[in-house]
Amino acid sequence: MFQKKFIPISNSTFRQTEWTQSTSPQPATGLLIDQFSRQLSDLRISVTDRCNFRCTYCMPKEVFTKDYPYLAQTELLTFEEIVRIAKIFIRHGVTKIRLTGGEPLLRKNIEDLVSMLSQLRTVGGHKIDLAMTTNGALLARKARTLKEAGLDRITVSLDALDDTIFKQMNDVDFPVSTVLEGIQSAQEAGFSPLKINMVVKRGSNHQEIIPITRYFKDQPHILRFIEFMDVGNSNEWAQNQVLPSAEIMQILADAGMPLMALKAQNPNDTATRWRHLNAQGEIGFISSVSQAFCHSCSRIRLSTQGKAYTCLFASGGHDLRSLIRDPQYENDDQKLSQTIRQIWESRIDRYSAIRHENQTLIQHPDRKKIEMSYIGG
Ligand code: SAM
Ligand code: SF4
Ligand code: SF4
Repeated sequence: MFQKKFIPISNSTFRQTEWTQSTSPQPATGLLIDQFSRQLSDLRISVTDRCNFRCTYCMPKEVFTKDYPYLAQTELLTFEEIVRIAKIFIRHGVTKIRLTGGEPLLRKNIEDLVSMLSQLRTVGGHKIDLAMTTNGALLARKARTLKEAGLDRITVSLDALDDTIFKQMNDVDFPVSTVLEGIQSAQEAGFSPLKINMVVKRGSNHQEIIPITRYFKDQPHILRFIEFMDVGNSNEWAQNQVLPSAEIMQILADAGMPLMALKAQNPNDTATRWRHLNAQGEIGFISSVSQAFCHSCSRIRLSTQGKAYTCLFASGGHDLRSLIRDPQYENDDQKLSQTIRQIWESRIDRYSAIRHENQTLIQHPDRKKIEMSYIGG
């Protein structure tokens, strides 16, 4: 339950620094630094706000009904618009792009977007690291096409191996066997290792931690446990449903699967890396509640509708779509470039760190947060 004592959210901790449009645009230098010295490097693009699952922690079916005001087709960024914006982010230093949603495989002809993005090069002339997060429902059908289109990496969400628990988590009666087939197809198509994400919700799927770890421990894939987060306003998050990573590690050790720490590959990675002492498999922990990693957060999110969000827990985004649809800027990306610079340079987000320091600061009942399905994980 939320605590009763609230401190008004007009607290300066959450105020975005004000920025005014500069009249003298500066060229992109491939390096953008925010107010806490964090460098922009990752862009997550949500390609649809729709999903074929109703995961209880993300799009609970009581809220996301068929009458929910999903975005109209005309509101979605087109592939050309997405690529135009992505190019500017790349000029500002983005090297990794992740396609997400909603369920990205529901977006019609998504492989065409993959193909377009895979042609882009970083400031240093390298291929963009192009990834996708999917619930895996359509992966068996799409894996090969995505590989041929130039997708580099896939993360599949998988919250249980037990079919009954899996169906309770996705809440649309979707069988786990189809997702496991999707994982197999992706592996055969050349996406190996895959990342497998399990959101752990105490009281819902925590009993699946041991079976899922056993299942993947001798496989090439990287199983990652994600702490249930208070994203959006719909998932009725409560602290007592969060199973901290340290507890999961203890559960694994008690079940005869102790872990040893591995070095981080990249200082901005969200997951800490571990491997089994007695097996090959790698394990990751995304501990956004118990060990916030805002200090190294290098990510910006582009919503389906073309708004840029500098934090997963933001209340509002910056409208880039109206800029690129303005006939005045049809062939002029300077304004877009300058806007992106100002958005990042004024960034002060550190929601999870603040939550960690003092929950009462963030849990104001009137504070609206953007839904995860709208900006992607
Ligand atoms: N539909 C795709 C999927 O589920 O993989 C992509 C979008 S989904 C929003 C991206 C990731 O966010 C998934 O791995 C999902 O498990 C995670 N996620 C969603 N809601 C969450 C929550 N409340 N806490 C932690 N992770 C969450
Ligand atoms: Fe859909 Fe992914 Fe959210 Fe589940 S986590 S409801 S699959 S968008
Ligand atoms: Fe980044 Fe916001 Fe998450 Fe902190 S809370 S890691 S700033 S997205």
